[in-house]
Amino acid sequence: MTFYNKNQNPLNTLIEQMEIFGNDLFISKEELISSFSSKNYVLENQPLKVSDSNESFLFEAEDDLWSNAKDLNDLYSKINTCTKCELHKNRTNFVFGSGNPNSDVMIIGEGPGAEEDIQGLPFVGRAGMLLTDILKAIKFSRDEVYIANIVKCRPPNNRTPFQDEMNTCLPYLKKQIELIQPKLILCLGLTAAKGLLGKKDSLTSLRGKIFNFNNSIKVMVTFHPAALLRNPGWKRDCWKDVQEFRKLYDEIKSNSN
Ligand code: SF4
Repeated sequence: MTFYNKNQNPLNTLIEQMEIFGNDLFISKEELISSFSSKNYVLENQPLKVSDSNESFLFEAEDDLWSNAKDLNDLYSKINTCTKCELHKNRTNFVFGSGNPNSDVMIIGEGPGAEEDIQGLPFVGRAGMLLTDILKAIKFSRDEVYIANIVKCRPPNNRTPFQDEMNTCLPYLKKQIELIQPKLILCLGLTAAKGLLGKKDSLTSLRGKIFNFNNSIKVMVTFHPAALLRNPGWKRDCWKDVQEFRKLYDEIKSNSN
């Protein structure tokens, strides 16, 4: 029995069969598997993955698998080989994020730098050491918060990620936020603020304000630590920002107790 015409999308064939026969397929399991053996079919520009469980066959768009991730580990395993944008071409490591998966606080930067790309971890270079000090100054340890970036692969020569690269990668970060459910987010630098909040304002006009993400998470913006390394004179303003951030955190915590 020929299950489907090779020029025809097999999922469409399945849908047609289901319309005629209902959910019972008139085909053996073995034949179904061999029919889908190349596993590279495309439906509306989405690659399809064929998987086999004990009881049923699942036909899922591969592109959507990660969006159903049940926790951060699951999400990591589903996206760490991502090639959706050009940035994958030069990466040494995919940089997912690190820290407490149940944290009330997320820190979001722009993208991995050279050291982060080598180690596969966010904020581990000189800027990362400064971030650790900044957090310590407002009584957070790195293990207590969760740290991630707008893009997960290093842009060449540490350039700012392009808008289309940010747009492509951002759903992953949003899924991380959904899984972690923080109460507060601190954006480090204008790119992080633009990416997350969609704001086009200058960093100066974003600092000192409290924004809402998804109507439930408070967001504040301050300098990226790399910018502070280049311009140590900005540290004083950053200090004010993070003090405000800590104050907001304490208020939210005391209101929730
Ligand atoms: S930057 Fe994001 S979207 Fe682009 S390849 Fe890396 S993980 Fe995928």
